Amino acid sequence: MVSRVIPVDPFDLVIFGGTGDLARRKILPGLFRRYCSGQMPTGSRVIGAARSEITVEEYRETVREAIHEFSKAKCDEAALEEFLALLGYVAVDARGESGWGELKEALRDDDDIVRAFYFSVGPSLFGDLAEQLRTHGLTNPEVRIVVEKPFGHDLESARALNAELARHFQETQIYRIDHYLGKETVQNLMAVRFGNMLFEPLWNAQYVDHIQITVAETVGVGGRGSYYDKSGAMRDMVQNHLMQLLCLIAMEPPARFEPDAVRDEKLKVIRALDPVDPESIVRGQYTSDGELNSYREDVENPASKTESFVAMKCYISNWRWANTPFYLRTGKRLSAQASEIAVVFKDAPHSIFGMDAGRHRNMLSIRLQPNEGMTLGVTIKEPGPGGMRLVDVPLDMSFADALGPDAEDAPDAYERLIMDVIRGNQTLFMRGDEVEAAWAWTDPLIEGWERRGDHPKPYDAGSTGPDDAAFLINKDGRRWRGIKT
Ligand code: NAP
Repeated sequence: MVSRVIPVDPFDLVIFGGTGDLARRKILPGLFRRYCSGQMPTGSRVIGAARSEITVEEYRETVREAIHEFSKAKCDEAALEEFLALLGYVAVDARGESGWGELKEALRDDDDIVRAFYFSVGPSLFGDLAEQLRTHGLTNPEVRIVVEKPFGHDLESARALNAELARHFQETQIYRIDHYLGKETVQNLMAVRFGNMLFEPLWNAQYVDHIQITVAETVGVGGRGSYYDKSGAMRDMVQNHLMQLLCLIAMEPPARFEPDAVRDEKLKVIRALDPVDPESIVRGQYTSDGELNSYREDVENPASKTESFVAMKCYISNWRWANTPFYLRTGKRLSAQASEIAVVFKDAPHSIFGMDAGRHRNMLSIRLQPNEGMTLGVTIKEPGPGGMRLVDVPLDMSFADALGPDAEDAPDAYERLIMDVIRGNQTLFMRGDEVEAAWAWTDPLIEGWERRGDHPKPYDAGSTGPDDAAFLINKDGRRWRGIKT
């Protein structure tokens, strides 16, 4: 299969926070991969910006080290030198006055050149940066800003941030990143649903028993303890990543694969979500396994009531999904690193094979990681004599196996999303009203447990979460899939 790389015109990209962790691990290695694939034209400029007073040469050295450490690009050192030559650096403080003139000088004075500003800094600086760009005349007709998560802490702060950005930029110029939307499998979810006749007729309450979305991590909170303890799994994962996956699974077919057509449909899903009964939410917090720290040790807060795990059952009140449970689950320090969406279909209405054949259900599993791909579970006859015994077997499609090296070379989420910014395609970015609707749904849940003073349930590091999470689904006669102890 021949990989198709769609070239773009040379662009200017400024990375605020260009010396930070995200820039070093994801943004710059991703840009280098795009450069190697021929998608980033030589005339482009990438300018790192942060407060540190370093020279361009020092910055290039930092980026060289980051690329050696984090890039998966199959590219030689000569290409790396060419890429590094595109890099500039300007010392600028988001809240200060110096450096802005220099930054303006570094950009090309041409109204037709795409000028993207990536806000890879803490969220408290987003508003400052937006204002500085306007005040110092750094925008042009092709300007766009890229805003990282977290986008707000609750509905009120998200509204305030939206309003602040809207003072300086139009919605069509604002790209709110949720990197889950840049994952190949997530886009494949739309291709599978809307590119095949096979699934969509069955994709509703009449044929689907339930849907599970799991995002399990083996890591703890790491160095993000002070941020995470004010946030927790609900704000850090459910409000954004899991909600976005839920929207793509549940939305109506958009009329076209265009930004507002897709985002309108996602928004309708969020607005149709029922409030969740407190009995249908389980929060957990990991304990020490003897070797690794407990959550409370990690965040250095011995009395913390923040959850590192959440499992919940929710419903979407519309014709397509009435009474179909959606089980969501995410957590840290679990037994496996695994992200999966499972669509579990209902039993056949009548078994011609009798009770002995057992109970069998079709299931479509969409794996985001590891080993991105899809599995369709189908029921067949167990080989051999002795009657009709049925067995479930997987029709498995690993993208790497099916598509060969192209799948391995597919751009990672950040690469794809950055190139979408340059192309001006907002389909895979969250619109302001979507983010606010998501907070409007999660806020009352969080306020509820804060008001009641609920404590998260302890769970062993390396397990599948608290026992109550298993009970949440088992009491409905179902069981979690995806991660095992
Ligand atoms: P980080 O490692 O702390 O880096 C912050 C960057 O911002 C540094 O380059 C810092 O450089 C710069 N900076 C700080 N204050 C500044 C100011 N007043 N003016 C200009 N530059 C300033 O943070 P990060 O992990 O890269 O995260 C950046 C953003 O991405 C955050 O919003 C985070 O929530 C989000 N994010 C990060 C990850 C991740 O994996 N790291 C994942 C998802 C989202 P100086 O100190 O030299 O100014």
